[in-house]
Amino acid sequence: MDLRIRDKVVLITGGAKGIGAAIARGAASEHAVSVIVDRDEGAAKKLCVELQADGAQCEQITADLCIAADCAQAVEKSLHKFGKLNALVNNAGVNDRIGLETGSPEKYEESLRKNLFHYYNMAHYALPALKKAQGSIVNIASKTAITGQGGTSGYASAKGAILALTREWAVDLLPYGMRVNAVVPAEVRTPLYEQWLRTFGNPEEKRKEIVAKIPLGKRMTEPKEIAAAVLFLISEQASHITGQHIFVDGGYVHLDRALT
Ligand code: NAP
Repeated sequence: MDLRIRDKVVLITGGAKGIGAAIARGAASEHAVSVIVDRDEGAAKKLCVELQADGAQCEQITADLCIAADCAQAVEKSLHKFGKLNALVNNAGVNDRIGLETGSPEKYEESLRKNLFHYYNMAHYALPALKKAQGSIVNIASKTAITGQGGTSGYASAKGAILALTREWAVDLLPYGMRVNAVVPAEVRTPLYEQWLRTFGNPEEKRKEIVAKIPLGKRMTEPKEIAAAVLFLISEQASHITGQHIFVDGGYVHLDRALT
């Protein structure tokens, strides 16, 4: 299937590593322009060089998305370089384990800043350009929004809000013919996931326990499988899909728990 996203400018927050990097790679392979917005300048530059060496157009913008002014600047810099914006992928986030008992009101607020506010801020600042291009937005959520995880109130509530905002913005942007969708991962092998696993006494044992419960193939989702869904959703091939929460998780959240 030709996604027909050649020369479309796709801004990806947290695009330097993990799922975001897979989206940047996927966009490049479809001849789209990847704009990687990330605080890890080294990783972002390395990826950009790699994509450019393969002939792709790519730009790296260093930003701390927790700062609203950085969000505004990231959009401005991207527009200055490419003159248009066709898609925003809100992806950056961190499962920071700010729990009901282990956290505090201050830490909870900080967690929302890391996981939620910049989704709104980026959409807000990108909107005029997205409207001009009749572009689209994809928000990366998490299964924790639906299942909970325990000990991670900030992250889970941010992800729940992201699903709600996806529907809210889908409604807001109907008059402009713009689409907004969410992709919901569960267990994806990325640096963030490895970091989370290391918080358990025996990370390998924990990984085996989780993988055994993933219905399709008893394996984790690969970042490129999340990327494939995102690229489809921003493409013309998804021209009548909006306000949807697409679970790319091998059936982890919805299939029968009695499956062995
Ligand atoms: P990752 O491996 O940590 O990559 C995320 C990238 O975003 C990193 O380069 C990170 O930089 C950057 N980043 C994070 N917060 C930022 C900020 N405030 N400003 C600028 N850059 C920032 O994460 P991932 O696993 O690919 O996760 C991507 C998204 O998928 C997240 O929203 C996550 O919640 C969601 N998700 C992932 C899984 C999974 O299994 N991996 C499951 C469900 C949902 P640093 O390395 O410096 O933090």
